[in-house]
Order: sequence, then structure tokens, then C-alpha cells
Amino acid sequence: MKYKFFVAFIVLFFALCVVSHDVSAKEKKWRQKKSEHFIVYFQDVPNDFIEEIIDEAERHYIKITQNLGFTRYDFWIWDNRAKIYIYDDKDDFINTTNQPQWSGGVVHYQQKIIKTYPQMAGFFDSLLPHELGHIIFREFVGNDTRIPLWLDEGVASYQERTKRIAADRVVKRALKMESFIGLEELTKMDVRKVTDRKQVELFYAESVSVVNFIISKYGRGIFGWFCRDLRDGDDFKSALWRFHCRDLEALNKKWVKYLKE
Ligand SMILES: [Zn+2]
Repeated sequence: MKYKFFVAFIVLFFALCVVSHDVSAKEKKWRQKKSEHFIVYFQDVPNDFIEEIIDEAERHYIKITQNLGFTRYDFWIWDNRAKIYIYDDKDDFINTTNQPQWSGGVVHYQQKIIKTYPQMAGFFDSLLPHELGHIIFREFVGNDTRIPLWLDEGVASYQERTKRIAADRVVKRALKMESFIGLEELTKMDVRKVTDRKQVELFYAESVSVVNFIISKYGRGIFGWFCRDLRDGDDFKSALWRFHCRDLEALNKKWVKYLKE
């Protein structure tokens, strides 16, 4: 499956996340704390940190759906609650989940499971909304592998306010330096295989910039309808009619024009 081990290198402003379908079966003795839509599992992490995770996760649960113009039919209650595993520290997380050293978290979006550990920078503003963004987007559109990676990452990164603001600057600079990656090429790009750090950064910046452009220009409602079309099986190119674009090239033109204005 194409999305198995969907690895996202996100450096600089970007949270580090890995999307995977598999769940490690390693069992640990977890304590748990439940809220309406979440169950947080933890061991030796301070209680106030867990309380904050619950508060923030509940806040993002509502906010992300609103951000994307989605209507929720499938509520995360009772057995359908999302699960967040908080490992004691980075070593515990890396060793138990077999994630790469740079990984700050892993998401299994079909099971609505996030695994991570307490991190100083960006935990509540980046990592948590980013991973929840992946789950909510994929829950809504389904697992169609024809959906480009940039839309997945763009939607997840869009939930991080600082990243959303910083992205246009990065992309405008790329346009000036002529290192800009056009949408056609961005769509073909498999960032999991890219080793050049600057290219990876640019991939993420462009992904969130184009999602931000679409939502700002056409509105959340239209973006929501576009995602509904994808969910209902339209291929990506034909769903672009929602933005009055016949193909990626047309969308690319509008996006670049918007950036240059
Ligand atoms: Zn991601």
C-alpha cells in the first residue's frame, strides 16, 4: 500500500511526523485518562501535561473540522475515541516504536492513534494539530491513494498557525531564486525519497502555501465540497473544477499570481 510507512521529514519550522497503517503490538503498562473524544495513555509523564494534552486535543478536534469546512457525521465518542500514547521520553519512544531518530511522532490514521513523547518546542502548536489534521482529513476523504501527498501534508501543516504564516515567505523566496517547484512536479514528487533537506523543506512549505491559498481564495465551504468530491471517488484533476481550474497548471498559475500580488 502506497501510504504504508508514509514518512514525512519535516525540518526547520516543520513538526516531525510519520504516518503509518501499522500498530506495534508491544504492550506496556499504561495509565489512562479519558475525555469526550480522546483517551490519553501515559506512564511517568506529569499529570498537568496530560491535562493540557486533553484540553488542547479537544480544542483542535472542533477547530480542525471548522478550518476545513467539514461536517462531522462520525463522532469520536466511546469506542470511537482517538488514542494518544505519550511515551516517557524520546529514547523510550524511538526504542519502543522503531521510529527513525528524527521522528517526533507517528500517526496511524485508520486506527486514530498518535504516538509521541513530551517535547519542549511545538508540541501543542505543531505536533498535536498536525497529526490530528492527518487523521481528520483522511477520515473524511478516505484512503484513496491517488490523492497527492502535498494535499495530505498541506492540510496537516495548515493546522499549525506559525507554519501557515511562514510558508508563503519561503515559497516567494523560491520563486525569486527560481527553485520553485510547480504543482505538476510537486504532485509527482515522493518526498519520502528525497534526501536533500532544502527540497524537503520546500515541499512542505509549498504544500501548506497552496492549501492556504485555496482556502483563503475560495473559502472553507468550497474546500469542504472539493474534499467531498474526492471522497466520492472523483479523480483529483476533475475535482479541481471546484476552484474553476481545468487542470493543475491552471491552479498553479492562480496560486503563483496570488503569491506575487
Ligand atoms: Zn505529516
